Amino acid sequence: MKLGIDAGGTLIKMAYIEEESGSIQYRTFPASHIEAVADWILKLGPAEVCVTGGKVKQLEACGVQPLAGIVEFEATYHGVRYLLKETGTPLESFILTNVGTGTSIHYLSEHTHRRVGGTGVGGGTIMGLSYALTGLADYEELVRSAANGSREGIDLKVRHIYEGAEPPIPGELTASNFGRLNMLAALDKLSPSDLLSSVIGLVGETVATTSVLAAGQFGAGTVVFIGSSFIRNDLLKEAVEGYTKLRGAAPVFLENGAYCGAIGALLQL
Ligand code: ADP
Repeated sequence: MKLGIDAGGTLIKMAYIEEESGSIQYRTFPASHIEAVADWILKLGPAEVCVTGGKVKQLEACGVQPLAGIVEFEATYHGVRYLLKETGTPLESFILTNVGTGTSIHYLSEHTHRRVGGTGVGGGTIMGLSYALTGLADYEELVRSAANGSREGIDLKVRHIYEGAEPPIPGELTASNFGRLNMLAALDKLSPSDLLSSVIGLVGETVATTSVLAAGQFGAGTVVFIGSSFIRNDLLKEAVEGYTKLRGAAPVFLENGAYCGAIGALLQL
């Protein structure tokens, strides 16, 4: 058995090749459950393991002995190239945006890759800000609730400012996330679903805008989005997709994009 592990700040992602099928399988554990991860790995029997990410030492302390390690960004690049090839998406140069706990932005071309920046606004912001506003801490529950929310009474759009007149920029652009203070102040109680949906909108639009600016800087027309923040979070995907297109770039979402780092580690073996 060959196993690639991406031990991130929030989630531990694993990609492994099953001997019978020969295909890659995936598995995720919360980063706080290191011992459960180690138990699961040790029960697999003899396994060649390659690890990337920040929790290598903790895994070793629990008895997992990796054969190899790989720097996180390298692993991610290899994983992305692998998934692009698998899905038949021929891309040479593009912006890669990894929306994990935080967001990192990279430029990849045929022969080079470099990290171009990032933002602390990412999946961790969805978790933390949602908790601060609604008290909800469970990921699945919050993405389900957000899907029923509306941003209309919370976010100020350009068309709200122009009130029927023709705006000089698209009216659907957000002028100010959480900026409809008059509307918010008029409500007795804010709807948790509406707040959650606006939090996801804020993160999605920030991630899309910074990515499109990076694309402009490097003359790239496409942004590939990966990271666990898109797992069962269609609202985030829609916000990122819509805003990336609105700002003039082509978004690509990779199925299993949460596992790029783990796949890159697996490919090292
Ligand atoms: P990292 O590598 O930093 O751990 P990930 O790419 O795994 O980052 O993304 C972490 C984000 O994924 C979280 O901040 C959250 O928004 C989202 N997420 C997806 N599934 C879960 C889950 N089961 N529990 C917590 N967060 C989750």
